Amino acid sequence: MLNDLLARNVAWSQQRHAEEPDYFTRLAALQAPEFFWIGCSDSRVPANVVAGLDPGEVFVHRNVANIVHSSDMNLLSALEFAVDALHVREIIVCGHYGCGGVKAATEDLPHGLADHWLEPIRRLARAYAVDLGREPDLERQRDRLAELNVVEGVRRVCETPILQRAWRRGADVRVHGLIYGLKDGRLRDLDCSIGPGHFQAAQSTQEAAQ
Ligand SMILES: [Zn+2]
Repeated sequence: MLNDLLARNVAWSQQRHAEEPDYFTRLAALQAPEFFWIGCSDSRVPANVVAGLDPGEVFVHRNVANIVHSSDMNLLSALEFAVDALHVREIIVCGHYGCGGVKAATEDLPHGLADHWLEPIRRLARAYAVDLGREPDLERQRDRLAELNVVEGVRRVCETPILQRAWRRGADVRVHGLIYGLKDGRLRDLDCSIGPGHFQAAQSTQEAAQ
C-alpha cells in the first residue's frame, strides 16, 4: 500500500516536472496563497481538488466537521499565520452534506473524545431545533445542520482577535461560508460572507451607544 503511494508520488512529480521544468523551484521559493481553507477532514473533500486549485494556491486547516473552536490552538495558529504572514485575501469555511461528524453529533451514541469535539454542533442542533424540525427527514436535517455549522464557523472566525486586528489595520480580508455536495461535486455559497466593514460597523454602533 505504502509503496503504491510512493510510486504514485514519483509519477506525479515527474509529470509535473515534464509539464513545467521550473514548477518545483518556483513553488519552493515562495508560498503566496490567496485562500485559507477551513474544512472537514473527510477524505472526499480535499480543498485543492474540489476547488480546482494547484499546490501553492490554498493554505489549509482541516478537522472533523470543520468546527471553529475559539480555543483551538491548531486552527488559531494557522489562521494567524494565514492572515498576518501570508496575507490571504479570502478565508473559506467549508462544510459538506453527508458529513459523518454532523451525523455523529445528532446520534444518541457514545463516540468517545469526538463527543467533546462535536459539542458545538449539538448546541446548534438544540438552538435551531424548531427550524430543523421543519425539514422533511433526518438526512435533510443533518444537511441543514451542516450549513448552520458553517455559518457559525464564519461568525466565530470573524470574532477572533486575529480578524478583528487585521480589519482594524485596514487589511482587505473576507470570510466566506461554502458547502460542498458529495453527490454532485459542487460548492455552494451560503451567502454569509463577512468583510472589513463588519468590525468597523460593530465598533461604531458601540461608540454611538456610549
Ligand atoms: Zn465531514
